[in-house]
Parts: sequence; structure tokens; C-alpha cells
Amino acid sequence: MELKFSTGRNYALKRDTVDSLSKFREMFFDSSENVIYLDGNSLGKLPLKSRDKIVGVVENQWGSRLIRSWNEEWLEVPIRTAAKLAEIIGAKPEEVLVCDSTSINLYKLVLAALKLNEDRRLIVSDIFNFPSDIYIINGVIELLNNGHQLRLINSGNGITPDLDSLGDYLTEDLSLITLSHVVFKSAYKYDMETITARAHNCGANILWDLSHSAGAVPLELNKWDVDFAIGCTYKYLNGGPGSPAFLYVREDLISKVQSYIHGWFGANEPFRFSLDYEPSYTINKFAVGTPPILSISPIESALDVTLDAGLENLDKKRIELSEYLIFLYDHHLAELGFELYSPRDYNQRGSHVSLRHSEAYRICQALIKSNNIPLNVIPDFRAPDIIRFGIAPLYNSFEDIYLTSEIVKQIINSKEYQNFSPELDSVT
Ligand SMILES: *Cc1c(COP(=O)(O)O)cnc(C)c1O
Repeated sequence: MELKFSTGRNYALKRDTVDSLSKFREMFFDSSENVIYLDGNSLGKLPLKSRDKIVGVVENQWGSRLIRSWNEEWLEVPIRTAAKLAEIIGAKPEEVLVCDSTSINLYKLVLAALKLNEDRRLIVSDIFNFPSDIYIINGVIELLNNGHQLRLINSGNGITPDLDSLGDYLTEDLSLITLSHVVFKSAYKYDMETITARAHNCGANILWDLSHSAGAVPLELNKWDVDFAIGCTYKYLNGGPGSPAFLYVREDLISKVQSYIHGWFGANEPFRFSLDYEPSYTINKFAVGTPPILSISPIESALDVTLDAGLENLDKKRIELSEYLIFLYDHHLAELGFELYSPRDYNQRGSHVSLRHSEAYRICQALIKSNNIPLNVIPDFRAPDIIRFGIAPLYNSFEDIYLTSEIVKQIINSKEYQNFSPELDSVT
């Protein structure tokens, strides 16, 4: 891997010329508006294959074939999509289900996991977890009303968790550890294999949220013996806004756990229409209602793009691009009041790079909206003072990174950000 960089534009252009993934950039929708998109960690770009797929499903299947499409095609769509996802996360097709939202899947699996370990009361997460995850866990605790306690691993530096303190929780009372594998603010990445083994050593289960990992960093759920996982498909997997999420249950656990939302699609034989619920014997027990075909179909096409590019190639390129951005930060941005808010070691980092700045919000607004810069750049802002630069190796280039650093420099040096209001938009 080439991790020595230089500061000029020609250098970036040269790297793009020899990049074997550069042709994938053309496989995504590009509007005539020229922007640099660095928010693939929040909403991935539209693959052209997905656009064509949506049009085809609407016209040929919904439009022409109507209800016949269920038997002709639609029942297979979630199954094929799950198999492709399984390949991306290092699992077996029978262990993965594409359905519902990440939050709902978390609800189903936290309940299932706690019921599996009913005499233990302790649940561990961390202060970096996505707020929705913490809300869901607390909702389950309230529902069970069984004395469960949630403890959060703290952090000394605000970027990496205090892993020593995890040791305090590894007791006979520990039921479940549930963490985001890559944390959404700093991009800190847990060592999934080690933490999973530590949970197992004290008889607890583990549930990983892969929302910021799937399609971004290597995942080997089977090899690392992970019990449960969930994740979303609209970030690095480019499934589309609000596209259905996925869940994973390790093969040997599927028969031991239950879903507590007993929907007809989770029943063994939904089309018998029996009033007695008999759960499915497969991962389908975690399905609830009718699969949203219009939303799942484009995910399948998007996963094909990721698999065609090759997971190893993507991993290598996202490391190169994020190291290059940190190199440019060291050379140009550190002196302008920015501070690196992601781990420096790429082994401990996902696919975005976060920078802090006291004017982060207004800088972000200027990047997105200013007419006084050569190109707009779309990163995102996370309170209180963080700009996240999401790097998607499928469609980002070295030149994107180079130009971003130049444009950020210009916005600070010209004080362009002062033309923007500090009032927060509703989606940041
Ligand atoms: C994006 C994200 C979610 C999203 O949950 P939804 O139910 O799809 O809104 C959940 N957890 C993490 C860690 C995320 O990054």
C-alpha cells in the first residue's frame, strides 16, 4: 500500500490515473452540478444500476405483472439480497435477513439476546454509541422490567473508549455487550474479534451495530464468532434513503432465540393463514410483515457494485484516501484551527475522518452552500464542533480529497464561513 504522499495537485491526479477502482466512479449518478460528495457515511450515492432497477421493477413488475410478481420474482429478492450482504459481512446466507430499520432490528435482537441469558442483568455499551441504539436498549429494559442495568464504557480522550474499564463489567452478571463497531462521530473502530472473545469468556453475548462498517471495513462475522449483528444499507452500501436494514444471527443461535414481534412473515407458513402462530425455523423468524420490494430491489443492485469492486480493493483504497486526507490535514489544516478527531492509526479507524473546529458548523455550511468557492463540498456536521469527511472508495478520488483540503483552506483564509448563520438546519 502506498502511504507516502505529496502535497501538489498533480500528485492526486497521478494517483487517480493508476487507481484500479477509478472506473467505478462512472457507475454512480452524477448531476450536472459539480460537487465533491464526502457524505457516503450518511447517505451513499445512487448507483446507475439501482436507478435502472427501480424503473424496471416499477414498470415491468408492479406495472405489468402486478400480484403475479410475488411468485415470479419478489419473494426471492430479499433472499438474494441477504446472500450478497452475507458475503460482505463474512456470514452465511442463512444467517442474514434484510428487513425493517436498523433500530427495529436492534429492538428484536436485544430482546432475543436478553431472553437467552435471563438470569444475568448487566448490559454494556459505550458513550459513543448512536443515540437511537441507547434509546432502544433502555426501552427494552423498561419493557422487561426485570432489573436490567445498562452501563456505558467511558472515554478519557473523547475519541477512543477506555477499554480497561470494560474489564470491570466482565462478570457473571454480564448478559450482553452491544456496541457500534465503527463509532459515528470519531470513526473509532473496535477490534471486533478481541471484544467478542472477551464477552464470550465471561459467558455473555455480543451484538454489533455495523451501520458504519458494512461496505466500509473488512468484516468476518463467522470467523470472529459474533453472536448477533444489525446494520443499515443506505450508508456505504448505497441502498437508498431509508432502505431496509439487515440483521444477523449466528447459525447455532437461530433455533435458540425468538423474535417477540410475531408477524405473519416470521411464521413458518405465512400463507396457511392459521390463527396459531408457529415461528419459522430459519432466520425468517425475525421477519415481521410484507417485504418492501421497491426499497429492497435497489439494494441488491448496489451490493453487486460493491462486490464487483472487491472488498479488499475497497479496503485498501479507503485506507489510502483517509491517510491522504490526514496527511493534508497535517500540512495545511492543523495550522488553521482544526484538530484531528479520529484515531491516527488506520487499524483503529473506519472510513470517515473527523476534524474539529470551533467554527465547524459555519465552515460546513460554507462548503455546502457558498457560491464563492470553485466547487461545493458535501461533508456533514455533528454537534458540537465536528465535521465528518466520509470517504467512499467506490466513487471518491484522490483529487476529491486534494480539492477538499484546498477549498477548506480558502474558506478559512477568506473568512467566507462568516457569511453563514450558526443556526442549525434540521438535518445536519
Ligand atoms: C445510521 C445508524 C443507525 C440508523 O438507524 P435507522 O433505524 O436506520 O434510522 C443506527 N445505528 C448506527 C450506529 C448508525 O450509524
